[in-house]
Amino acid sequence: MSSNLLSRLTRSFSVRLNLWYAAIFTISACALFAFLYFLLSVAIERKDKEVIEARLKEYSTVYEAGGVNALRNWLYNNQESKRQKAFFVRVVNPRNSVLFFTAPQDWVTFDPEGGAAGGYRTGNAWLRIPQDEEKDFTLASTMLFDGSMLQVGRSTNNRSAVLQPFRRTFIAVMTPIVLLGFLGGAFVAYRAMKPVRQIVSTARSIIDTGKLDARVPVRRSDDELDDLAQLFNRMLDKNQALIKGMRESLDNVAHDLRTPLTRLRGTAEAALRSGAGNDGAREALADCVEESDRVLVMLQTLMDVAEAEAGTMRLARKHISLCALLQEVIELYQYVAEEKKITITTEFADSCEAFVDPTRMRQVFANLLDNAIKYTSPGGSISVKTAREDSNFVVRIRDTGMGILPEEQEKIWDRLYRGDKSRSQRGLGLGLSLVRAIVFAHQGTVKVESQPDQGSEFTVFIPADEVATRNQLPPSPAAQLAK
Ligand code: ADP
Repeated sequence: MSSNLLSRLTRSFSVRLNLWYAAIFTISACALFAFLYFLLSVAIERKDKEVIEARLKEYSTVYEAGGVNALRNWLYNNQESKRQKAFFVRVVNPRNSVLFFTAPQDWVTFDPEGGAAGGYRTGNAWLRIPQDEEKDFTLASTMLFDGSMLQVGRSTNNRSAVLQPFRRTFIAVMTPIVLLGFLGGAFVAYRAMKPVRQIVSTARSIIDTGKLDARVPVRRSDDELDDLAQLFNRMLDKNQALIKGMRESLDNVAHDLRTPLTRLRGTAEAALRSGAGNDGAREALADCVEESDRVLVMLQTLMDVAEAEAGTMRLARKHISLCALLQEVIELYQYVAEEKKITITTEFADSCEAFVDPTRMRQVFANLLDNAIKYTSPGGSISVKTAREDSNFVVRIRDTGMGILPEEQEKIWDRLYRGDKSRSQRGLGLGLSLVRAIVFAHQGTVKVESQPDQGSEFTVFIPADEVATRNQLPPSPAAQLAK
């Protein structure tokens, strides 16, 4: 296996996850096995001791009844003698002489006079004498009534005879289970991580190729990873739309800046070439000032929107009549409207007082009226109505123009967004975002209702109550715009 593949495998989340699972599973299984092994060996040992203890009692009773001879008879003539021969029996008198001794075949390697057996004088009741891997003896001793020592022992090899296969079976069963579990788990984890790999490869392909239309395949399995894939796709959709919008906006800004700057340059160049006298030069300079103003207004609008969206727009509020302000703006646009044969009607409420920044509110009404005229065909009409509704001053500007598609009605408030059908008209897509930013800065709201080809109605709500507007901590327009 190349080191590259190995490092990829160890970095792989599914492999690492699986290794952890396999390790936890193996440790738990080993712990369970060790516990069972311990219980089993304790149970076998207890059983062995019970059997030896029973013999010890039996033989000491026989000895007490009739001495060594009775014990010998009991052991050799008893009908159970075959079974008895499986036991080691020894009687040692207080002077350490062996009075009686019998041992099964497999005890031949065991030295009854040896150190292990000598332990009985220390008063040890139990003695375990492991001989080698396969031989293991347990010996119990008891004092007899005449001071002699009775020892009964038994080979306890059966313990390892039971425990060894148990150990072997465990290893034989566990090895394939852990291996199978690991491989099966790796396969399942690899499959489960497929959507994540698809997201990674989609992101990588967008980064590498710059093509924004790559999307993650959605499985419709309705789980968390499917949610992630869908959200990722939605984010890509949004980013793509945003980038498209920004590209178009940049084109628009470049185009809209180029027109007045070219005119400006052209005017200045023509004046220089013609060698016009003072009057001609003045006229050219006046044109240049006009064109520069247009550029400056455009740049100022961009900055205003940025400022309002960042929540740093400062308002110079005054008590004014909003109806008078509206009337002023309408008069300004009257000429343009007449040129397009559009009629503007007004219907003002009695109470028009509000505590607002007049310059900013003028921008709001001018933009709405400018749009209404721009997007209404010749012969159409515009109505401007004001009203007091609760504590709000409400302005409704309605036109009979081209209207706005339902799917565009949310987007028109975005900075630099321009409707598809409006491309033929001049504009930067900044007007409505400025309107909304200014209205929000006044703690007001603005909405649109529109039917394509029938017209649109923009409604502005401005809190007219000075106390309300003063005491209310103005929410940051950026925060409101983010809603
Ligand atoms: P601009 O007018 O410079 O394109 P705006 O921000 O003022 O930018 O408006 C954004 C978009 O909203 C416009 O491009 C247009 O599609 C739509 N719109 C705004 N006002 C109207 C209206 N009165 N009638 C129809 N469409 C409108």
